Amino acid sequence: MANSASDGKGLRAAIIPVTPFQQNCTLLWDDETKVGAVVDPGGDLDAIQAAIAELGIKVEKILLTHGHIDHAGGADELRAALGVGIEGPHAADRILLDNLEAQGKAYGVPARAVTPDRWLEEGDKVTVAGHEFEILHCPGHSPGSVVMVNRSHKFALMGDVLFRGSIGRTDFPYGDHDALINAIKTKLLPLGDDMAFICGHGPTSTIGAERESNPFIA
Ligand SMILES: [Zn+2]
Ligand SMILES: [Zn+2]
Repeated sequence: MANSASDGKGLRAAIIPVTPFQQNCTLLWDDETKVGAVVDPGGDLDAIQAAIAELGIKVEKILLTHGHIDHAGGADELRAALGVGIEGPHAADRILLDNLEAQGKAYGVPARAVTPDRWLEEGDKVTVAGHEFEILHCPGHSPGSVVMVNRSHKFALMGDVLFRGSIGRTDFPYGDHDALINAIKTKLLPLGDDMAFICGHGPTSTIGAERESNPFIA
């Protein structure tokens, strides 16, 4: 099940791949209090709930990086099951979140439309068990994609903006390649080489590794 890994003192993360798209649903929690958040519950809620129970996490909120089905398709149902609020993404993804049920039918996976309890904007802060994440609005893969950055732990939740060796697709509706490259170069690379991140699919990486070898941002 969950692939548990420490990302810094006090703050821990576990990745649960969900949906046919193998999206990295991430559990984040404080080691001491066990209070935490579910990031991008795209689907497979049974697996997410099992991981929450096994790790003993008291979930206080759901965070969404963007409005695609593999990230947000299970958010409304999980919100109801857990009785917590949803924060993110940026309101520019409302059009995607409103359309999740139709997206689900197109892909043959169950999904519900969802309206977050809080939209996020550039410079906003969200907390997970008191650990603070700064919001960077990074459009391009989707108009409302956000990256969540915890500077003290040098750790970010990347969504589908930047991957190990790749970047987010921009051939979906509302994709914008130039905006994506601009966001990566002006907002993400300046975070520093030692900034580690969990991305929406595949292995984790660091800004330094991508600056050095990612062919899409050379
Ligand atoms: Zn996506
Ligand atoms: Zn994705």
